[in-house]
Amino acid sequence: MAEFAPVPDFALGPEIPESGYHVTELGGGAYGITSGMVNTVFLVTKNGVVVVDAPPDLGEALLAGIGEVAPKPITHLIYSHAHADHIGSAHLLARDDLKIISHELTARFIKEAHDDDRPLPNETFTGTRSELSSDGERFVLEYTGDWHQPGNLFIHLPEQKVLTAIDSFTVKNAPFFRLLFSARVPAYFAAMDQMLEYDFETVVSGHMALFGTPEDVQTNREYIRDLRTAATEALCAVDLREAAAAAGVPDNNKQARLKVWMDTPPALAELTDHH
Ligand SMILES: [Zn+2]
Repeated sequence: MAEFAPVPDFALGPEIPESGYHVTELGGGAYGITSGMVNTVFLVTKNGVVVVDAPPDLGEALLAGIGEVAPKPITHLIYSHAHADHIGSAHLLARDDLKIISHELTARFIKEAHDDDRPLPNETFTGTRSELSSDGERFVLEYTGDWHQPGNLFIHLPEQKVLTAIDSFTVKNAPFFRLLFSARVPAYFAAMDQMLEYDFETVVSGHMALFGTPEDVQTNREYIRDLRTAATEALCAVDLREAAAAAGVPDNNKQARLKVWMDTPPALAELTDHH
C-alpha cells in the first residue's frame, strides 16, 4: 500500500471555505480565485469584468466569487488554452454579447472536441501576439511556443503586474507529472525564461491554492534543470539491451522491449534519488 508524506505547510495555501472558492486581491482591480485544485484570474474594469478561463472545479463558484467582488457583467472571457479542466465551465458564462477570445489553434481544438460546455471563441488571432483593451485596461496575449499545448497563451496585465501562465508550473510544488503533459519539452524549458522576461509581481499558473512570484518561476526552472541532468545521467547509465534481457523480454516482442526502455531510466533515477 502506498504511503504519502504530509504536504509541507508552505505548499498548502489558504483553506478553502464551504463556498468552494477563495479570492485573493492582486491589486489594480485584479483578483485571483482558487478552488484549491484550480485557479485563475479576473479583472474588474469600470463597466464589467474580464475573466481568464472557467474551470469546472470552480464551476458556479467562479460566478459567486466574481459577484462578491464586483456585481458587474462579465464582458470578456479569454481562453488560456483548450483543455477542459480549465475552460469546461465556460458555458455557464455564455450569453449573447460575451466576447470569447483565444488563439486560433485553441479554437481549432475546441471545434474538434464537439463539447457544448466549451463554447467556440468569437474572436481569435493568429501569430504570436494580440492585445485586448477593455475600459482602458490592457491585456497582452502572447503565443511564444507549444510549452503546454498548441495555442497556449501568456496573458499579461502590465498595469497590475500580473502574468497568467496556465499550466506552466505548480507554485511551491514540483510540476505535475510529465511536465504538465507538455506538448513540446524544449518549449517548456524555454517558457520559464520567457516568463521571467515579463514585468510581473504575481503569476497565476492554474493549479492549487497559491499564486506565485518571479522567484517561484526561478525555483521551477532550477528544478527542471536538475531533472534534465538526472534524466540524462539515467539514460546514459542504462544499457537498454541489458534491461530488456534482465526483464526477460523475448526478442520478437518489440512493444514489450519499448516499454522496458521507457520504464528503466526513470526507475533508475528514482533509485538514485533515495540515497
Ligand atoms: Zn492544460
